[in-house]
Amino acid sequence: MFALTRESLTWAVCPVLHAVMKEPHVLPCGHTFDKKVIRRLVRMRPRPASGVCPLCQKKFKNRDVVLNYALLDAIKWYKSLPAMIKSSIDL
Ligand SMILES: [Zn+2]
Repeated sequence: MFALTRESLTWAVCPVLHAVMKEPHVLPCGHTFDKKVIRRLVRMRPRPASGVCPLCQKKFKNRDVVLNYALLDAIKWYKSLPAMIKSSIDL
């Protein structure tokens, strides 16, 4: 039994920001970060429009980063739930 609580939102938490993602974007390596983090990663690189994944160190090009619609929809769905349901749903 799995209770859907605020604490169980770890699937929606950015591994860099440690907060629920507002705009989850997936890198070609498969790791997902908030867009804010990706913007920062790209800016830190000397060559514009590229970056390195902080989890697996694989290089990526900014144009290959896409919005993770499935995760975005799941986060929106969760946020739309009344607080009472959030703490009592069993998945
Ligand atoms: Zn990665």
